[in-house]
Amino acid sequence: MKTTFNINNLVRPNIAALKPYSSARDEFKDATSNQMIFLDANENPFENGVNRYPDPQQKDVKSMLSSIKNIPTENILLGNGSDEVLDLIFRAFCEPNQDNIITLPPTYGMYNVLANTNAIDVLTVELNADFQPKVDDILNTQNSNTKLLFLCSPNNPTANSFEASKIEKLLTNFNGIIVIDEAYIDFSEDESWISRLSEFSNLIVAQTLSKAYGMAGIRLGICFASTEIISILNKIKPPYNVNQLTQLKAIQRLEKQQEVQNEIQNIISERSLLIKALASITWIDTIYPTQANFVLVKVDDATNRYNQLVEKGIVVRNRTNQPLCNNCLRFTVGTSEENEKFIAVLKNI
Ligand SMILES: *Cc1c(COP(=O)(O)O)cnc(C)c1O
Repeated sequence: MKTTFNINNLVRPNIAALKPYSSARDEFKDATSNQMIFLDANENPFENGVNRYPDPQQKDVKSMLSSIKNIPTENILLGNGSDEVLDLIFRAFCEPNQDNIITLPPTYGMYNVLANTNAIDVLTVELNADFQPKVDDILNTQNSNTKLLFLCSPNNPTANSFEASKIEKLLTNFNGIIVIDEAYIDFSEDESWISRLSEFSNLIVAQTLSKAYGMAGIRLGICFASTEIISILNKIKPPYNVNQLTQLKAIQRLEKQQEVQNEIQNIISERSLLIKALASITWIDTIYPTQANFVLVKVDDATNRYNQLVEKGIVVRNRTNQPLCNNCLRFTVGTSEENEKFIAVLKNI
């Protein structure tokens, strides 16, 4: 545990001083009671399922997540996708035109976009040849204006997880907040870092229902952190950031844990089959290890292969312009039917 870490030294002064908007549903908590007549929020009184404002604290979704993830609800904040969660983190801790963050390319493109929209500098430390973080270089790169370090593990687009000992060394020695983006954690053999939250007061873990839970369309991102960090983010989140339809759909899906786990197992076994088949494709040079629901491969000519696949009706991701990803394509694991068609096409081009 970092004894010197004090979240109040990192939060932007205007955010520390800010008094949050108090919504009607915040002020009167027991909004589910049927006996009450609600004349407080200027809603249309005629019931249609969505005529009332949604619960600003998403109590029911959080309590399900709390029991599934074994984390108290006060350590959870929900957003309109993890993109919103990450944006809130920028706005709480990074002073525009002054502060900076560190990212480890090749990685998820949204960190850069969010930094740019918030006028925050991005310092980069490329991953090593095994796609692992260069811990000492990262620690040497941070300066007094460095607020955030983004670790995407399993990493998009490289598909591997970062070694726990490296992450731990960073958590112990980095002066700002470390955001571990675990969008793909359910496909991985590694344990989530949410089990270590109480040890590291500078840790934020981001997860999402977009990948393993199959709900990219409803936009639900999850932030796990200390109660101190969660209260700061709660002050600045839009009051009704997770809409009613999303909350209902999320609950229905979270109730079907067995179905979700079966789909994850199916995707993982399809991933093994796909990797075996890829090994016999002569123009694929390297198949990188994966802990995610996609596979990164190095091919002879990524742009040419990408175009050939599109002609056959298959869209993959061309990552050739990313650092360390020259001639790399990223394949998402599909259904068994889709993967069989995909493999047949790969063999024919
Ligand atoms: C897909 C993905 C996400 C998901 O973002 P949402 O806004 O929750 O859909 C987050 N991080 C990474 C690295 C991803 O690849």
